[in-house]
Amino acid sequence: MGYYPASLTGLIENFAKLPGVGFKTAERLAMHILKMPYNEASYFSESIIEVKKKIRFCAECFCLSDNEICAICANPLRNNSTLCIVEQPADMIVIEKSGAFKGLYHILGGALSPMDGIMPNDIKIKEIIARIDKNKIVEVIIATNTNAEGESTADYIATILKSKKIKISRIASGIPVGGELKYIDQVTIKKALDARYVID
Ligand SMILES: [Zn+2]
Repeated sequence: MGYYPASLTGLIENFAKLPGVGFKTAERLAMHILKMPYNEASYFSESIIEVKKKIRFCAECFCLSDNEICAICANPLRNNSTLCIVEQPADMIVIEKSGAFKGLYHILGGALSPMDGIMPNDIKIKEIIARIDKNKIVEVIIATNTNAEGESTADYIATILKSKKIKISRIASGIPVGGELKYIDQVTIKKALDARYVID
């Protein structure tokens, strides 16, 4: 490390802390910053500080937000009677990008995993009930992952919401679009058959 001036060494070390960035990549990124116009480098560093200062969880849905209530929850054009439950903010963004859902979200912040010590109180489950009671929610779509943790979280949520007079649905899982049956595992095939639909 002694080959570089101390300030550059510091920048390389900071880049090397990022996930998936090894020392060589960190060196390359630091050199890239060095070549940037001052304004661009300044904006880059300020955007890191801004994210750290501003980003918080939306008080309603717990997605990442610059404000107390996120843009989706604050949007009067969204259907506020339907709630889509996901594990992470990234899941919400994928669904948003699809354009297939116009309701509101609820981000759990994880999935139940007793093996890892993640119990119902560790994720935002009781907050779902509070939202249903407070708002006129008529349908809850459970869009947790289809792995073991996601499935057991979905089962748990469906159970605790049973007493509520609302429609509870689970996203379908099965053969991906463009997928070939011969490469699909048995569990997925079974789920795809279970979730089959009638062609009319
Ligand atoms: Zn929100």
